[in-house]
Amino acid sequence: MRAASITASFTPSGIPTSYYNLFADAGLAAAPPLDPETRAPVAPEKLAALFAGGLLEQELSPRPQIPIPEPVLEAYASFRPTPLRRAAAFERALGTRSRILYKYEGASPVGSHKLNTALPQAYYNHLEGTRRLATETGAGQWGTALAFACRRFGLDCSIYMVKVSFEQKPFRRTMMELFGAKVRASPSELTRFGRAFRAEHPDHPGSLGVAISEAIEEAVSVPGTKYALGSVLNHVLLHQTVIGQEALRQLDELGLFPDAVVGCHGGGSNFAGIAFPFVRHRLDGRELQLLAAEPEACPTLTRGRFDYDFGDTAHLTPLVKMYTLGADYVPSPIHAGGLRYHGAAPLVSELVARGLVEARAYSQERTFAAARRFAASEGLIPAPESAHAIAAAEELAAEADAEGRERTILLCLSGHGLLDLSAYDGQP
Ligand SMILES: *Cc1c(COP(=O)(O)O)cnc(C)c1O
Repeated sequence: MRAASITASFTPSGIPTSYYNLFADAGLAAAPPLDPETRAPVAPEKLAALFAGGLLEQELSPRPQIPIPEPVLEAYASFRPTPLRRAAAFERALGTRSRILYKYEGASPVGSHKLNTALPQAYYNHLEGTRRLATETGAGQWGTALAFACRRFGLDCSIYMVKVSFEQKPFRRTMMELFGAKVRASPSELTRFGRAFRAEHPDHPGSLGVAISEAIEEAVSVPGTKYALGSVLNHVLLHQTVIGQEALRQLDELGLFPDAVVGCHGGGSNFAGIAFPFVRHRLDGRELQLLAAEPEACPTLTRGRFDYDFGDTAHLTPLVKMYTLGADYVPSPIHAGGLRYHGAAPLVSELVARGLVEARAYSQERTFAAARRFAASEGLIPAPESAHAIAAAEELAAEADAEGRERTILLCLSGHGLLDLSAYDGQP
């Protein structure tokens, strides 16, 4: 089936010139963030200490299309559009009758989709006079992307890296430092919250919830510093829609339209990035399955409750309505560090609650088995996070084969695993 219409506009090289705001375009509403004390919707001014105004405006924007600033487009031009490829050898390895296509975000200079949002976040902060960004990172992909983006737009960058990943992934730290960022293991001795937390839990492996608390504390206490988040928030999802907009156009050039769109899900940004531009078509009546793949070890969408909760362990964030396992949840240290978050993007949560998006959970063993098959056939080594999307695509293809159907499955390969090779050692 061909795409009904391509409404976005593109640069001559094929990069979308605006971000796609699904909720505004489709007239969908999501529950607003609440002030934990008053339980009233948070006034945007309250978040101005943390985020640049240009980003807060996008967070709540009623505009369906939000133009991408020229300097950001220029930065995108070094790696976008990313390739869309058919995984023909992988299809043969599976023996499936379905087509499997992947959008390869591992082609970005830092190796993942995270740069799509790091660049505009650094740009708007630079524009508004911020001198430094503080952030957390799990497996290190977000930290690497923000470090590079800060470098590009002349900002300092301070990164709290979840301790278990800091120890498991030393090369990610090397990359962040190479781009000029300061990196510390979280919980750290540098923040009041980190010191208190370590006193109470001396051997804690760290978690994204704790690292977020530390980064926020630094942002509110050090002048000229703001905070950056690599997933979950509306403006982050918005920036990632370059993925799906490009994919729609690239598929159209091949005369194709998918009947399944699959992405792995940690905080929801790469999934939303590939899926949201397609959701519009589903709302317009296309038959289209949208599938978010998450780890069994952190089953936010499949086992969490849809309710207001804090985004961090110290309860410094507003209350947001999302699927959550609880702000104190500490997932076991699986290799897909980027998927170890207790919550989920409110916008993805809303679509799951409405039945527009489906979620499934996969075991670490199964995702690595899928990733190994993909690597051996396509020659690309997927990030352990992206491996969840591959496992999901395999499952959809097998289901279709069993039913005698032939499907067109689009998956987001959110990053490469070249810095995760030790995780592949010892996996069956
Ligand atoms: C961070 C990351 C993820 C998970 O984050 P989302 O916000 O859910 O996209 C997935 N894959 C890769 C490669 C990542 O770096």
